[in-house]
Amino acid sequence: MKPIFTRRDFLRTTAAVGVGSTLLPFSGYGKSATTSSRYTKGLVVASANGLRATQKAMEIIQTGADALDGVIAGVNILEDDPDDMTIGLGGLPNADGVVELDASVMHGPTHRAGAVGALQNIKNPSIVARYVMERTDHVLLVAEGALKFAKMHGFKEENLLTEKARKEWVKWKESLSNQDDYLPPHSIEDKDVGGDSRNVMHTYGTINCLGIDLHGGISGVTTTSGMAYKVPGRVGDSPIIGAGLFVDNEVGAAGSTGRGEANLLNCSSVMVVEYMRQGKSPTEACLMACQRIVDHNKERRLQDERGRPNFDVKFYALNKNGEYGSGSIWSSGAKFAVHDGRTNEIHDAPSLYKAGE
Ligand code: ASP
Repeated sequence: MKPIFTRRDFLRTTAAVGVGSTLLPFSGYGKSATTSSRYTKGLVVASANGLRATQKAMEIIQTGADALDGVIAGVNILEDDPDDMTIGLGGLPNADGVVELDASVMHGPTHRAGAVGALQNIKNPSIVARYVMERTDHVLLVAEGALKFAKMHGFKEENLLTEKARKEWVKWKESLSNQDDYLPPHSIEDKDVGGDSRNVMHTYGTINCLGIDLHGGISGVTTTSGMAYKVPGRVGDSPIIGAGLFVDNEVGAAGSTGRGEANLLNCSSVMVVEYMRQGKSPTEACLMACQRIVDHNKERRLQDERGRPNFDVKFYALNKNGEYGSGSIWSSGAKFAVHDGRTNEIHDAPSLYKAGE
């Protein structure tokens, strides 16, 4: 039986859309994007840590470039920033002290995606994810294979563990248990040394960035160092298409931050897009996905005394009409960044629960 889409078709198609051959491809997808969105003024939405990303992405989108060029360049700012301890260079490491990065990209006009999981030594996993999309027949590469692939395309390996992140990891390791032999600084008067992790930085942190370009093309990216001190090899929701990111050019886009395991169990970003397809606003769709996570959160260890999740997940969404929104399970820090072509601002987002209530 003849394959529906042959390798030759693939090569012809990718040539037509101008797949980049340099390390930082500015693909020129823009002019050839199918315009299904009614909104063509440019819009960028990101998690609250993304104000620099939304600014950069909008600058690029306003030149007429594809939204994917914009959002990737936007998140590269945070991946390159050694002071951001949740993304790219300087991200908090896994339990062995090794930084492992996850990222995904999705391009609405061509409905293609690429992703990498547990990638070591390459500070821009979002660009490697784009290469997976553009230069392989696959969607997701992980660990050693992802690193080999990145090196094949000229990405330079570097140590992503900054001194600041290394010190936080050592603090975590020394505070894990008083039953092991690692001890934090202590005096001879101290009794119960080593089992107090209260002062340890234990973070989640990720950037999701979604954009619409001047041609109505919708794209998104999610990039992270994942859960701090995770089991080596752990992959979160960020590189999983449908969980940490989903784009449908006929509807809109959604992405997430927060406890990846909860999102993986519910495939929530595709759910947000499907709710928008059914007519829900981006904000309503985000909150409905949060509610689904709450409803399915059955493990007692993951609930507070009232049965509510003891973790947070946040969603960000935009639709093809240029409407946008965000919603989270918990209110603490429920904000998101939006550049609507005129202003670049942090907005408040609604949540299902308010801390302290
Ligand atoms: N969702 C990411 C993960 O679980 C972490 C985060 O968003 O903070 O890897």
